[in-house]
Amino acid sequence: MAAAGHLERRIRRLAGRAIGDFGMIQDGDRILLGLSGGKDSWTLLYILAKLRERAPVRFDLLPVTVHPGFPGFDTTGIEAYLKEQGYDSRVVHAPIFETMQAKLAEGERPCSLCSRIRRGVLYTQARVSGCNKVALGHHRDDFIETLLLNQFYNGKIKAMAPFLRADDGRSVVIRPLVYVPEQEIVRFAAEAGFPVTCCACPFCGDPDMKRVKIKGLLAALEHEQPGIKANLLAALGDVELRHLLVRQGAPSGAAVLPRNSG
Ligand code: SF4
Repeated sequence: MAAAGHLERRIRRLAGRAIGDFGMIQDGDRILLGLSGGKDSWTLLYILAKLRERAPVRFDLLPVTVHPGFPGFDTTGIEAYLKEQGYDSRVVHAPIFETMQAKLAEGERPCSLCSRIRRGVLYTQARVSGCNKVALGHHRDDFIETLLLNQFYNGKIKAMAPFLRADDGRSVVIRPLVYVPEQEIVRFAAEAGFPVTCCACPFCGDPDMKRVKIKGLLAALEHEQPGIKANLLAALGDVELRHLLVRQGAPSGAAVLPRNSG
């Protein structure tokens, strides 16, 4: 087996640290991995498989791809690669594109609907496949973009959880790439030669999307002052509630000031 390169070792170390910090994986876990075919999910699958080789605990990985119905999304390359790697995997068709067309009002953005349906499909698959956890490929930049999106557009301090009991009360969602910068995943996925497959979503990369704007803003800030992204992630783990506008005894989510939704 070829020795792992520097980037692989670094990503493995960061993922291993996150798994330890948040107690993500236990002996006997059967983990469904949401494999979209993009760089993040391929990296997650590869890294978890590598960590498993040396882990003191035993766990199974089941890659599952949700086919959202976007015209042009082709899972052939994904299935072939997984088979070659010896995985028992599956592709599940979900009417995401159809639902978007039927339900979205003119100008309404599709991402939250799309994510909700995908999550629901993955939780159901986890249940029927006997998986107790769902692993997703969200990385550091996803966490901090979500933090800023919620602050800027929803008036909330909220990001993502690296370890979360899902809304269905059964599945546990884990995000082992929480500490890994997106740029390192981009480089690693190219280096590893994963069969990265375009999701064919007609909205992907639309410059009017809030996430795309936040990404641009963060890139500009990071360019001007390297370390800003790392600080934003660190901030998520170092919250001083006493210095926020939180009323004593108020339930979580009870806003003090009105939100400006305009
Ligand atoms: S960009 Fe497309 S695929 Fe991604 S969450 Fe939004 S609608 Fe879904």
